[in-house]
Amino acid sequence: AIDFKWIRDNKEAVAANIKNRNSNANLDLVIQLYDKLLNLQKEVEKLRAERNVVANKMKAKLEPSERQKLIEEGKTLKDKLVTLEEDLLRLTDELQQEAQSVPNMTHPDVPVGGEDCSAVRKLVGKPREFSFSIKDHVQLGKDLDLFDFDAAAEVSGSKFYYLKNEAVMLELALVNWAVSEVMKRGFTPLTTPEIVRSSVVEKCGFQPRGTNTQVYSIDGSDQCLIGTAEIPVGGIHMDSILAESSLPLKYVAFSHCFRTEAGAAGSATRGLYRVHQFSKVEMFVLCRPEESDSFHEELIQIEEDLFSSLGLHFKTLDMATEDLGAPAYRKFDVEAWMPGLGRYGEISSASNCTDYQSRRLGIRYRPEPSNSNPPKKGKGNYAPTQFIHTLNATACAVPRMIVCLLENYQQEDGSVVIPEPLRPFMGGLQIINYK
Ligand code: AMP
Repeated sequence: AIDFKWIRDNKEAVAANIKNRNSNANLDLVIQLYDKLLNLQKEVEKLRAERNVVANKMKAKLEPSERQKLIEEGKTLKDKLVTLEEDLLRLTDELQQEAQSVPNMTHPDVPVGGEDCSAVRKLVGKPREFSFSIKDHVQLGKDLDLFDFDAAAEVSGSKFYYLKNEAVMLELALVNWAVSEVMKRGFTPLTTPEIVRSSVVEKCGFQPRGTNTQVYSIDGSDQCLIGTAEIPVGGIHMDSILAESSLPLKYVAFSHCFRTEAGAAGSATRGLYRVHQFSKVEMFVLCRPEESDSFHEELIQIEEDLFSSLGLHFKTLDMATEDLGAPAYRKFDVEAWMPGLGRYGEISSASNCTDYQSRRLGIRYRPEPSNSNPPKKGKGNYAPTQFIHTLNATACAVPRMIVCLLENYQQEDGSVVIPEPLRPFMGGLQIINYK
């Protein structure tokens, strides 16, 4: 239920937003298709009414010749209707497809421009000063026997990896720790399907097709591998009306994520930084519209608390318009200092998608009636339904967290200290030593 009427009525604002976000959406075409659809719908309704008139006339006692005339009239109308109804379906599909690329509107405080325009919201900690020459995570992993990239390249291809020894325990500990920490804050834990229908991927605002798609599709089916748990979690309440008393719904989901990384050539591709498959713990919130800005703050606060407790140095950014993707109304990224890489790297992302996903997924709620929100006449004691807002945020994307931890906690002798909060999840292990 994309609000095409709103888009048409606010054409100038939508066009400015498309430009600010450097989106390739074709607004004129969307509006043209919408107008065409409305006209066609009117025509179909008119024909249906005419067909009903003919059907009613047939109920009377009639001369055979009159009856024959009506039968023929009815048949002509039916044939026309079949053709127009097919056109209607085709046009609806075309409009939905074209509207896929129209981005969400943007929070007024979001800086306009490219990546360089993103605003720093917070800086936590300082880069660690090393008194010895440091290694990057690839070298540390090699020396401590934690990864095997060569075998993975043979078995799967580039940008895959095996984790070994303590790195396996570290992955499991990070997942367990992140899920436990977020559960403490009232989130319901989930594991999710990792293969989903392409239609659900689309409804969440991702493009499952095209040359530059990030999504792996399964040949010969209408299914895809998920790029993030946001998709199956968003899909749980698809096509439903939630009671206001059930909101907010807060989930913390663990899944594997699969990404083609098409177009990522040239950006940091060494080691674990950018890979095709990784584990991630993701937070997802469904809430009333008026609460989504404050839940966005809550989610970024949780991320900051988690990363601070691991002793990381990081900054939080209010991402600029060109970096938002289609679904986000506003997005806060966290970039942590990675000493071996010698730069900050994105470790998490928290987005408020407002009603962009819920309109496509069909997730509404029924507000309790109140004076400011009175029940609709003739509809019992019910206020009209509204679309809920959705938000998603990374609690822990494992590979980049491993990069950060190894590089930040390396010692002069090449060993790596495990940060205190993770130790209970690693059987008390305090340090990764040479074998
Ligand atoms: P996104 O869902 O794109 O916002 O990504 C969430 C987080 O997953 C990012 O902040 C990264 O920490 C991590 N991530 C994204 N893509 C990759 C990748 N190809 N390899 C490893 N980690 C990734």
